[in-house]
Amino acid sequence: MPNPESVVPGDIIGILGSGQLGRMLSLAAARLGIRTHIFCPDSGPAFDVSARHTRAAYDNDDALAEFAASVKLVTYEFENVPAHTAEFLAARLPVRPDPRALATSQDRLVEKTFLNGLGIETAPFRAVDDAGALAAALLDLGCPAILKTRRFGYDGKGQAMIRPGDDPVASFSATGGAPSILEGLVPFVREVSVVAARGADGDIAAFDVNENIHANHILSLTTAPARISPATAREAMEITAAVLRALDYVGVIAVEMFVVGEGTGERLVVNEIAPRVHNSGHWTIDGAATSQFEQHVRAICGWPLGSTRRHGRIEMRNLIGAQALAWRDLLREPGACLHLYGKHEARAGRKMGHVTRILPE
Ligand code: AMP
Repeated sequence: MPNPESVVPGDIIGILGSGQLGRMLSLAAARLGIRTHIFCPDSGPAFDVSARHTRAAYDNDDALAEFAASVKLVTYEFENVPAHTAEFLAARLPVRPDPRALATSQDRLVEKTFLNGLGIETAPFRAVDDAGALAAALLDLGCPAILKTRRFGYDGKGQAMIRPGDDPVASFSATGGAPSILEGLVPFVREVSVVAARGADGDIAAFDVNENIHANHILSLTTAPARISPATAREAMEITAAVLRALDYVGVIAVEMFVVGEGTGERLVVNEIAPRVHNSGHWTIDGAATSQFEQHVRAICGWPLGSTRRHGRIEMRNLIGAQALAWRDLLREPGACLHLYGKHEARAGRKMGHVTRILPE
């Protein structure tokens, strides 16, 4: 088994997934003299900026073995890495973060049970495997409530809000009838996230708490720092550190949270964990001393973590679909830091790029 701590500039690291997160990881790695090899069944924005890429299925063991032999360690840019792929690679070389983080975050029931086990509050939930269990869960949690598939949900996919008078059988079929959880509705004031890293030596460094606004279930705007009390910000950091330590995690993680109540009554309810770099941390490329992407590379290579110091008040807007067509205007705007992911078709709902503005504090 190669020692990840022996990675030096000039080496190649592997990334599973070819999306914009893999692209920005590759760019950050390149700045530190590290080359990347992307493995993905589909070509994507990361292919354009990596030294090597392999286009093969995640269950193609020959391709995976060749990939494993060509890199010092493997990381991933998305949490739905199939268990077989993660296990196959982990038997041959270091996979960071540890695949345990994937198993925990891929299944909402496992994830929420894990969080509650650490004493971290989540939305109240019940496991729902059939329409009967859903009816019972609705009696327990009340209505409205949200039905979410346990696996493969993102950007609001695999979710259905159940309101008084709705037919639970119809709602269960609408999400595909897959094993699910029913969640009680959290009356949140705002949504926040913490993007943080844990190094191979256990050192933890977090960026300031982000405040996130979604439109149509997709992140639209991140501002930092979040409008929360210093005590709540400290609690957000403590929650994140507890998750990182419990998973013996190495790399960047994002923890999404709801803020409930205001003033002295403010408290945090964790929504979910993303075991990877995160959209709400994109501002760190332009707005922090070290970007989340560089931080991830530093962590997985066993290098020292960088400073998370923020350069100003941050506003990061995603460019979704046709919004990216305004790129010329954004280029004209002094101080607007434009990032385009090189996707050819500006389909509705597709993340095409983002723009970060760094404002006076
Ligand atoms: P998720 O896919 O779990 O990240 O949910 C997507 C979005 O739906 C969240 O960012 C919230 O805006 C909203 N949401 C999800 N779960 C709940 C909940 N239990 N209560 C209130 N809003 C929720």
